[in-house]
Amino acid sequence: MSGKVYLVGAGPGDPELLTLRALKLLGLADTIVCDRLVGPSVLQYANPQAQFHDVGKIPGCRQHQQDEINQLLLTLARSRQRIVRLKGGDPFIFGRGGEELLFLVQHGIEVEVVPGITAATGCAAAVGIPLTHRGVAASVRFITGHLRDSDGLELDWRSLVDPTCTLVFYMAVSNAATIVEALIAHGRPADTPAALIHAGTMAEQDCAVVTLQEVPGMIDVFAPPTLLVIGEVVRLYSSPAKRALEQAGPTVPHSFNPPLSCPTELA
Ligand code: SAH
Repeated sequence: MSGKVYLVGAGPGDPELLTLRALKLLGLADTIVCDRLVGPSVLQYANPQAQFHDVGKIPGCRQHQQDEINQLLLTLARSRQRIVRLKGGDPFIFGRGGEELLFLVQHGIEVEVVPGITAATGCAAAVGIPLTHRGVAASVRFITGHLRDSDGLELDWRSLVDPTCTLVFYMAVSNAATIVEALIAHGRPADTPAALIHAGTMAEQDCAVVTLQEVPGMIDVFAPPTLLVIGEVVRLYSSPAKRALEQAGPTVPHSFNPPLSCPTELA
């Protein structure tokens, strides 16, 4: 009998955005294999007895290649443990969760996927930008600004110029100038509003609203993790609704604690 691997989404940073399932699994884990994007405030809810593996990949560094991570998960699972593979946001949105799932299943390991709030929805909510809005944006695209190796960005740019589609670029800091240049060249107006959101939902959260053509000039100020949102919905950022959201503050006090009667067994 092997162990089981739980591919768990840790959400965008604020631990109050964890799912109940993620919270439960963190408390019951024998081993946690953790990504760089998972904040310490989430890890405070982890079983203090759990073995901890930090496999964070720093951009540009060959720190822990995916093959090594896959092997580690397999080895741990074969030693019959309850392994929580904790990933920032959602494991299936630019999280390589699919690759880990396929690898483990091919090796006969049982896997469960626990979704998390992805950076796009978490950050948009935190700053008050609705990603879709009736009469403004009828669709939204989640796009990677970083592709494998140095192949460059092979995006279908013509499909990204629809003014009623909001674009959300993940991992866009290093390719921001290329992205903006291509979007404008293919017909997205240079004065389309854009938001740069750094560390959304975390204490260090920062947001700047500029025009599309101004993004490259601003990007250096924004260290990762930063999300780039492009589209007419960004204009709603300065709306009265946004101000009301700021004044209201968090709906749950930040002293929130997980349920005292944490379950000791999994359903
Ligand atoms: N699986 C994750 C995404 C991993 S890719 C998810 O679903 O959110 C990493 C990229 O996500 C970062 O480069 C950044 O663009 C974005 N990101 C993740 N968390 C973020 C946060 N709290 N604030 C801003 N951007 C974030």
